Amino acid sequence: MTGAILPGATIGVLGSGQLGRMLALAARRMGYRVHTLSPECDTPTGQVADREVTAPYGDLDAVRDFARHADVVTFEFENVPAEVAAVAADWTPVRPAGHVLHTTQNRIREKTFLANAGLPVAPFAPVLTLEELRAGLVTLGCPTVLKTAESGYDGQGQIRIAAPEMAAAAWEAIAGRPAILERVVDFEREISVVAARGVDGALADYGVIDNTHRDHILDVSCAPAGVSPGVAREAGRLARAVLGELQVVGVLCIECFVTPEGRVLVNELAPRPHNSGHFTIEACVTSQFEQQLRAVCGLPLGSTEQLRPAAMANLLGDLWEHGEPDWRALGDFPAVKLHLYGKRSPRPGRKMGHLTALAPTVEDASVIVRAARAALTSGTSRTK
Ligand code: AMP
Repeated sequence: MTGAILPGATIGVLGSGQLGRMLALAARRMGYRVHTLSPECDTPTGQVADREVTAPYGDLDAVRDFARHADVVTFEFENVPAEVAAVAADWTPVRPAGHVLHTTQNRIREKTFLANAGLPVAPFAPVLTLEELRAGLVTLGCPTVLKTAESGYDGQGQIRIAAPEMAAAAWEAIAGRPAILERVVDFEREISVVAARGVDGALADYGVIDNTHRDHILDVSCAPAGVSPGVAREAGRLARAVLGELQVVGVLCIECFVTPEGRVLVNELAPRPHNSGHFTIEACVTSQFEQQLRAVCGLPLGSTEQLRPAAMANLLGDLWEHGEPDWRALGDFPAVKLHLYGKRSPRPGRKMGHLTALAPTVEDASVIVRAARAALTSGTSRTK
């Protein structure tokens, strides 16, 4: 543990959303101080941090000052400009390093990295012009999905292309931005693996998580996933390979498709704790947020052992459509934990919080967490 950053030290978090909030809560429990920097104020992270700095990421003087007051800088939002990490790194360790951001914030670089590392991905082609899009449709065949290379998340900036005649319209729909064209995968299920790598290169993962999406946004995650031992082994191997190849220090999540034949294809990387790993807060010896803290501080990684089967359901802004959800209804669900992120304005699709249920089986946990979420808007307890 030489060089470890110990309790009492200050963690600088770039970004200020719910991931930073849950990291800050874990860090403060362990006696660390937390500073956060983002362009907003009264943020989910800022509300629970020791210090909230409000500055655009492009304000490099503010970033420099922020880094000077931190013992380590990490991020909870990977779309910060690359020069921000570089400026911060002049003052203090930045973990994971800027090159990890650089690779993962652009889908062309990310997929190219995965393919060059020999890791399985859906057939793809980088697309910079309409001609390249047309050529890609010939090579890959339809149906395909066209994704903007940058700033796309939760399905934003994605167009399905069913036939070559749709090329021009799809190109117009993404405003001719650099993109990646991928063959549509006929997947049986979507899974993820959250894993961590320490300063010393030690690796740990939380096993396979089953994910269901609604309108391209994660809806429910269940762990452990009901996959075969072979799929579980392969998914774990892929996560560890990505962390090792990218030399990540911190937490990283791989999102994957599992095909009907049992092949695991990597779809996306997130170089930070992930929505699908929120169940680890209650269900595992070490949460993904404490693990991020331990990794970036150079502490030994904590045990990833899962103590109980768990399911997590997101609470999106849509739940607020007819007013505040009925929190009293959760009184009927003693094994369900509520997390709210302190966001003031609920908007459709906005992640406002989540619920986690623990149960003797993962199937039970899934039923309970969905029932608890439904009860929030069913109106039955409002009359109690
Ligand atoms: P992404 O933004 O890449 O995570 O994609 C969001 C969601 O779109 C995924 O979780 C899938 O449900 C779907 N999707 C993305 N890429 C593909 C693909 N190549 N084949 C099938 N579905 C996809």
